Amino acid sequence: MKAQPIASHFIDGEYVEDTDGTVIESLYPATGEVIARLHAATPAIVEKAIAAAKRAQPEWAAMSPTARGRILKRAADIMRERNRELSELETLDTGKPIQETIVADPTSGADSFEFFGGIAAAGLNGSYIPLGQDFAYTKRVPLGVCVGIGAWNYPQQIACWKGAPALICGNAMVFKPSENTPLGALKIAEILIEAGLPKGLYNVIQGDRTTGPLLVNHPDVAKVSLTGSVPTGRKVAAAAAGSLKHVTMELGGKSPLIVFDDADIDSAIGGAMLGNFYSTGQVCSNGTRVFVQRSIKETFLSRLKARTENMVIGDPMDEATQIGPMVSFDQRQKVMSYIEKGKAEGATLVTGGGIPNHVTGEGYYVQPTIFADVTDEMTIAREEIFGPVMCVLDFDDEAEVIARANGTEFGLSGGVFTSDLTRGHRVADQLEAGTLWINTYNLCPVEIPFGGSKQSGFGRENSLAALEHYSELKTVYVGMGKVEAPY
Ligand code: NAD
Repeated sequence: MKAQPIASHFIDGEYVEDTDGTVIESLYPATGEVIARLHAATPAIVEKAIAAAKRAQPEWAAMSPTARGRILKRAADIMRERNRELSELETLDTGKPIQETIVADPTSGADSFEFFGGIAAAGLNGSYIPLGQDFAYTKRVPLGVCVGIGAWNYPQQIACWKGAPALICGNAMVFKPSENTPLGALKIAEILIEAGLPKGLYNVIQGDRTTGPLLVNHPDVAKVSLTGSVPTGRKVAAAAAGSLKHVTMELGGKSPLIVFDDADIDSAIGGAMLGNFYSTGQVCSNGTRVFVQRSIKETFLSRLKARTENMVIGDPMDEATQIGPMVSFDQRQKVMSYIEKGKAEGATLVTGGGIPNHVTGEGYYVQPTIFADVTDEMTIAREEIFGPVMCVLDFDDEAEVIARANGTEFGLSGGVFTSDLTRGHRVADQLEAGTLWINTYNLCPVEIPFGGSKQSGFGRENSLAALEHYSELKTVYVGMGKVEAPY
């Protein structure tokens, strides 16, 4: 199986190679096979990409929002027409089952281009401020060259979620995908050119943790949007602060999902499974601390166990497969070491906990794993695992569970299942997180803001809120009379 792109980078409307860069091998996580060889960007490639973006941006910013939006909407149409091909590439890049990528990856990217393309004309308006005979007005202006740095769990979606709002506001973008998943973003860049985007406005360069700082520290970059872990976020925010760049941080989480005894139990189990096992658990907003009210614990666990053991693990290209491999060997090692810690610290292993033996070959598979009797102090309840490991914790009452749910440095998301609507809103109101769900979990349509609080980051992606993070207000005060000076 091969997925070799024409070249490693996409700059100024075309593929570019520089073989002086360190080799990046792209491995298919289901087999460990090398499917492409690329090169990390050299400093010369970084310069070339930023120079192209800087050159192209002013003319793009001068176009009307409607004209910019038309191009983004065309890109959305092309992505939908090629959904199958893009989804297969996403599956090769990440190992995620085609059953998921076909509905959740390119389509979510296309939604983003469609939404931002469509709201352009209204969303970028300024305001008029009456001041007696004088007045002022505001206009929303682009920032200039924006850098996007992606994680490996949703490569195409992240490339679009950062690209669409940046472009509609009149910025240019240089995007660096994760070194684990270098392929998808190149296709997004190709499609944007095909849709009519002028060259230089959406560039993709490859690289790892040594390449990122070249972008973040560059004096011609106005903004950095990172999707990644908290430790990387701290480094990138600190580097960006050196030149006071705008920053959006989409970081990790250890989110609570609270199930009260009056909840629709099968719905809550479905939500917990989706919020722990989708994308083999590699989702930042996952509800990995499932707090279950003690009176329903046994019923919840026995039904959850049965449904989990029925999940189909296997070849990600088979449409029946529900659980694919982890993205990399290293990530599997990390997840397995957390599973061992869970066992050693006394959690009860309900199911899973190992490498599935019916999956042959070198793929990086881990069984969907459930621990019960997890306590707040255990490592598996405190640290982000980023794999298919669900921790079930018991609780007795509302005040207690809210305090425990908030007892974390993270604040990305959270959920509550209850049939008491008043309680649902009351609990959601008190949970310290950027996105909350009541009686569902992990749904992130482009219309709603998404992002974290506390150590999970700041800034918001999607919705009208994203426009504020890719533009700034310019205020113009207009004097209508003579200037009265006291001297
Ligand atoms: P990571 O932090 O290791 O890497 C993220 C990206 O940052 C990669 O492209 C990497 O090359 C780059 N990078 C690393 N060090 C850098 C530096 N010093 N300067 C600039 N760039 C640098 O994260 P990952 O392992 O790719 O992804 C998993 C993490 O991402 C998890 O913590 C997960 O929760 C988080 N995540 C968050 C969201 C969200 O929207 N909040 C979404 C997906 C993933």
